[in-house]
Amino acid sequence: MRAYNFCAGPAALPLAVLEKAQQEMLDWHGKGLSIMEMSHRSADYVAVAEKAEADLRRLMNIPENYKVLFLQGGASLQFSAIPLNLLGKNSQADYIHTGIWSEKAYKEAQRYGDINIIDAATQIDGKFAIKPQHQWTLNSDAAYLHYVDNETIGGLQFDQIPDVNVPLVADFSSSILSAPLDVTQFGIIYAGAQKNIGPAGLTLVIVREDLLDQARSDIPSILKYSAQAKNDSMVNTPSTYAWYLSGLVFEWLLEQGGVDAIHQVNLEKAKLLYGYIDASEFYNNPVALPNRSLMNVPFTLLRTDLEKQFLQEAEANHLLNLAGHRSVGGMRASIYNAVPLEGIQALVGFMDDFAQRHG
Ligand SMILES: *Cc1c(COP(=O)(O)O)cnc(C)c1O
Repeated sequence: MRAYNFCAGPAALPLAVLEKAQQEMLDWHGKGLSIMEMSHRSADYVAVAEKAEADLRRLMNIPENYKVLFLQGGASLQFSAIPLNLLGKNSQADYIHTGIWSEKAYKEAQRYGDINIIDAATQIDGKFAIKPQHQWTLNSDAAYLHYVDNETIGGLQFDQIPDVNVPLVADFSSSILSAPLDVTQFGIIYAGAQKNIGPAGLTLVIVREDLLDQARSDIPSILKYSAQAKNDSMVNTPSTYAWYLSGLVFEWLLEQGGVDAIHQVNLEKAKLLYGYIDASEFYNNPVALPNRSLMNVPFTLLRTDLEKQFLQEAEANHLLNLAGHRSVGGMRASIYNAVPLEGIQALVGFMDDFAQRHG
């Protein structure tokens, strides 16, 4: 039986996608081999890769003057690739710090440039929140401003896109495709695939063309956006299976009605879970309302001594991977696109039963 998987990443994938992949596994489209066994330069594979890009462009309404790159190394390698690609002419950059991932990003960038760190995490009435932009000290000479839209570990998300005069570079690893996004507001959007796109091993980079000529001369060519763009993300062998499977997820999303439609489902899921937690005396979410994540819902139990039991019983009820990140503890339910509303209903039902028995 398939369980409901609330893992933060690698995360749940749509059942229909896994079934399609299973069906195509041994003999892809009657060609007598698996897609994993195909040359990335073959016409068949190139068509799969191009279709995935075209579908993503449709889903996100990505304009022509943006390149879409399918790379490797995770979002973490982009923490280095971004400064290497953008700080060749001007070595100054602004980094907004709201949690663990944005901190990792600026620590890598500090190797390559003069980084202005804006500490934007704060608390409102004891709840975590993001400081409004008028409280940030920005550098108007920065080559770009970097931020993490959704801090996956803290469950802390921006409620608006920063409004600045320099190119915006944003890590959307755990929020891409969860809600409509105006791509034209950004210089670069990037995301590791394993949260809301597909399997691990693929990293998506959406980059505006005018940013392709600012790389440092010492950048490895694999990391260089202009080289990857020129070679259709095939400077070397790409992560072919993850790219193919992400393409199946994009097809699935289009079948669901696209990003607007899945966003409505996501809103309903989040409302159900946060609503239950807020009404309960037994559970607590530590984030202020405007900055609550649509995708990652951390929560604590009134009785922390019962955490282990909560996780064991949840697992016995086919509700998997609810432990919080090892650095913060507590619980966390990641409710990405592939987790259906029924999964949240089952989770809330279990949480309520557990609270009744122990509250
Ligand atoms: C998971 C995550 C990362 C790291 O991703 P890797 O692909 O493991 O490098 C970076 N940023 C955010 C926001 C994440 O959620």
